[in-house]
Amino acid sequence: MTENAQQSLQRIFGYRHFRGHQQAIIERLTSGGDVLALMPTGGGKSLCYQIPALLRPGTGIVVSPLIALMADQVEALQQLGVRAAYLNSTLESSEQSRIERQLLDGELDLLYLAPERLLRESTLALLARTELALFAIDEAHCVSQWGHDFRPEYQQLSLLAERFPATPRIALTATADRRTREEIVEQLALQRASRFISSFDRPNIRYTIDSGGNGRERLWRFLQREHPADAGIVYCLSRRKVEETADWLNDQGRPALPYHAGLDAATRQRHQQRFLREQGLIIVATIAFGMGIDKPDVRFVAHLNLPKSIEAYYQETGRAGRDGGPADAWMNFGLQDVITLRQFINDTDAADRYKRVSGEKLERMLGLCDLIACRRQALLAYFDETLERPCGNCDNCLTPPETWDASEASRKALSCVYRTGQRFGASYLIDVLTGKDDERIRRNWHDRLSTFGIGTELKASEWRQLIRQLLSRGYLETDSDGHGSLKLAQRCRLLLRGEESLMLRKPVKTVKQKRQPSDTLKELAPAQQQLFEQLRELRLEIAREQNLPPYVIFHDATLRAMCLQQPMSLTQMGEISGVGERKLERYGQRFLDRILVQTNGSRATQN
Ligand code: ADP
Ligand code: ZN
Repeated sequence: MTENAQQSLQRIFGYRHFRGHQQAIIERLTSGGDVLALMPTGGGKSLCYQIPALLRPGTGIVVSPLIALMADQVEALQQLGVRAAYLNSTLESSEQSRIERQLLDGELDLLYLAPERLLRESTLALLARTELALFAIDEAHCVSQWGHDFRPEYQQLSLLAERFPATPRIALTATADRRTREEIVEQLALQRASRFISSFDRPNIRYTIDSGGNGRERLWRFLQREHPADAGIVYCLSRRKVEETADWLNDQGRPALPYHAGLDAATRQRHQQRFLREQGLIIVATIAFGMGIDKPDVRFVAHLNLPKSIEAYYQETGRAGRDGGPADAWMNFGLQDVITLRQFINDTDAADRYKRVSGEKLERMLGLCDLIACRRQALLAYFDETLERPCGNCDNCLTPPETWDASEASRKALSCVYRTGQRFGASYLIDVLTGKDDERIRRNWHDRLSTFGIGTELKASEWRQLIRQLLSRGYLETDSDGHGSLKLAQRCRLLLRGEESLMLRKPVKTVKQKRQPSDTLKELAPAQQQLFEQLRELRLEIAREQNLPPYVIFHDATLRAMCLQQPMSLTQMGEISGVGERKLERYGQRFLDRILVQTNGSRATQN
């Protein structure tokens, strides 16, 4: 008798229940229908095509843009006893012919390919002679030219519908906005696909957005307090800042590696591999890093610059806490970010429509930053989802920010911009406002202005905050001269005339925030914690023997379950979530032995 989906889930993957829409998606695809699946990172997208590929006759073809990660993905499947392979330019030609033969002989359950490979006429001809179970188009948002993951080849994948009309297709992505969704349908010819859209909430991620000065020091305090030994990602805008930040973290004693497009491919690959294979490493990166990284135990994602849209922010922060355990999305940004990103949009040669859309996206991001209410409610609302109550797990919920009436101070700042001729940047304006004794100010006769020294009630850093918020909210704009000169925007009139007042958020002095206890990662008792460390060590040992990332052997969540349930036999071991048939066979005994030694040991000391 053939297996059904539930049985495969249990036998192969060692999981008892499907999550969210997994089962419905699997049924639809298995019965030959097309699917569009939107699920947040960590939602469990891969099972949605892996199980149907096993249940249907023939091979499932997975289109993925991530050549560098294919070997690990395939290895993880082979560990489960699934007959998986990949074809890409890193393979020797003899190896390629071997895999092609396996494919034709029906010996593969899954084959991973990059889109450019798939689109070659020779590959299409090969597939035409193969029995195909399905096409899975992973990271489908790569069709969108608005996103930073845009891959032109993805737009040619509609050809699959023409050439293989009888083969069901599934497109998957963790990008949630409606525009991208419609682009995927359009570009991939998925008009008839059933759509499964999951909640995008990631309740285990705590959002914090901070705009206090000296971001690096604040990052350091955050790391020391919340993640003294955890693995995580720090995003920066420029290559130089990536390098500097990585050096600085290393000097402070935290192992960190840079990753950006200016490093050669081999170095990037090496750093990525180390991040996956070691424990507690920090990767400092531009947005070039992260797509498809399925490391489940990334405990924090920090931004030292402002992302250019909420989509980008959500996608990048989503790389934290895939295992469902507590994780942080922490960000610090400043005035310069706002200026740089606005300029960046203005300076592109792109069409006006592109500029307008990019500009709107940035404004929405800034709105999120200056928000006083729950961040998660706003984030989800952006993706057309409603969260009834404030989440209790973002900075604004945990430490409600204070506001102050900034109307008077804003008027001072705005009139200072006006009286100095709308030709200067923030630093100069602040010097005038605070009445600094400065050669350049005297030369410009600005020490004689009525606004000279009228702002001594605020510190320079506070003026900077204020100006940033005036810029964010559209009372000020930057000149297109490229020097960050500030000009009055239309909107400031009402404020200047006293017909509008302005309440702004006070910068929060970061306070220690108590974590929500998480169901997924229950606190371990001291003896269990000790066992957990031992099992982690064993896992690392096995991973090294095979040159694999440790989580490919077992996830932290599975090791934790072992510590909590303390199996005494292989049968009991097989009941642990995440221990499927093949892994039980390969590793069950070794982990069991470790558990028995430890529990007997602790019993002996008790006697
Ligand atoms: P995504 O690609 O959506 O980010 P993955 O497919 O990598 O997510 O799945 C995230 C993690 O959740 C993986 O470690 C996977 O093994 C696990 N997972 C997926 N489905 C289930 C399930 N039904 N029960 C338990 N764990 C699951
Ligand atoms: Zn909240």
